Amino acid sequence: MRDFDREHILHPYAPSIPNADMHLVKSASGVYLELENGTKVIDGMSSWWSVIHGYNVPELNAAAVEQLGKMSHVMFGGLTHEPAIKLAQTLLGITDKNLEHIFFSDSGSVSVEVALKMAYQYWNSQGNKQKSKILAFSKGYHGDTFGAMSVCDPVTGMHTAFDKVLHKNIFAEAPMCSFKAEWDEKYIQDFKTKLEQNHTQIAAVILEPIVQGAGGMRLYSPHFLKRVRELCTEYNILLILDEIATGFGRTGKLFAYEYAEVSPDILCVGKALTGGYMSLAATLVSKKVMQGVETNGNVLMHGPTFMANPLACAVANASLELLLQSPWKRRVESIQTQLNTELTKCEELDIVKEVRVLGAIGVVELKEDVDLAWMTAAFIKRGVWLRPFLKLVYIMPPFVISKEELHTLCSAIYDVVAAYEKR
Ligand SMILES: *Cc1c(COP(=O)(O)O)cnc(C)c1O
Repeated sequence: MRDFDREHILHPYAPSIPNADMHLVKSASGVYLELENGTKVIDGMSSWWSVIHGYNVPELNAAAVEQLGKMSHVMFGGLTHEPAIKLAQTLLGITDKNLEHIFFSDSGSVSVEVALKMAYQYWNSQGNKQKSKILAFSKGYHGDTFGAMSVCDPVTGMHTAFDKVLHKNIFAEAPMCSFKAEWDEKYIQDFKTKLEQNHTQIAAVILEPIVQGAGGMRLYSPHFLKRVRELCTEYNILLILDEIATGFGRTGKLFAYEYAEVSPDILCVGKALTGGYMSLAATLVSKKVMQGVETNGNVLMHGPTFMANPLACAVANASLELLLQSPWKRRVESIQTQLNTELTKCEELDIVKEVRVLGAIGVVELKEDVDLAWMTAAFIKRGVWLRPFLKLVYIMPPFVISKEELHTLCSAIYDVVAAYEKR
């Protein structure tokens, strides 16, 4: 089976014939993945931010089975269903009160496409054809489809590979103030200048609140986000917040923008929405924006085949119920405390540049790029699954991880990074 995979199946950002071994996962339960040979490894990645409750969760399994007995899918054009209505009620209930409408889609990237369309259509419908650009940030990541790619970091975000076909947007310097940094207006200066110089062309600003994820795992001060909101308001520009990675408790708040007490015009969620069971995302939007979009009889021009898939919505409902009824905040805080004590020890290693922790996110930034194959093998030997990239060894474990399991993860990181330094 692995030979067939190797020869025919493409994996993320990988050569068609991979140069490293692929590990076959047989099953998964709790925080453990079981590999082909029976080895069990602790998943430190939550399958890329999504598996917040761990794997094979009875409540989520039951919700899926129950919904299967009713219908797994039905088109959303002209039809609606309870799982979508319930999910919309919950999501609109737990997010900023300014957000009154919701668009369900299949993946995070698509929810970003929809957000960008909303922003363009908002101005276009009202007769403003000048606003054709988005102001985004260096080190940002918003997905891999064309619109989303055009607002990702222009250096690391694949812009060179698609130079001629990508929409040209405007980029501000990435936030340079750490999470706890004392505020100084100099941090926002570059953004402010870009906004002042280009605001007549800018439809919206997009950014990931507090944590820039796949673009570099960088944490920044809530004050920065506050200033972005204030300046967007001052220049009458829409603010799109991308909470696809940070949403649903990961940073210690239900949504990371709560740290800054700001109100987005458009909000994207995904990843952990179904507890990592299947692909589902949503774009939430204010009444003001939808009214703008619909000026002169226009409607939002998007409609995926699997929009608001009932099976995915039913699992999302179960996942949110489980999350909101759990002591998630205490769990995330206790993960943060443990990461602060155990992961921060890595800073004593010469090869480590910095350790950053927020909520259930831990990042060890090295001074050099990692050898992915070497590291992955070393981690598996120590019973953990991690997927470092560039200079970053990072974890975002399921919230249900125990102290002992998290200790195993942290000490594996220390040992492997120490061995990497000496190799
Ligand atoms: C993962 C991610 C996306 C893209 O989501 P997909 O489901 O992979 O399309 C967009 N924005 C952020 C912040 C993400 O972390």
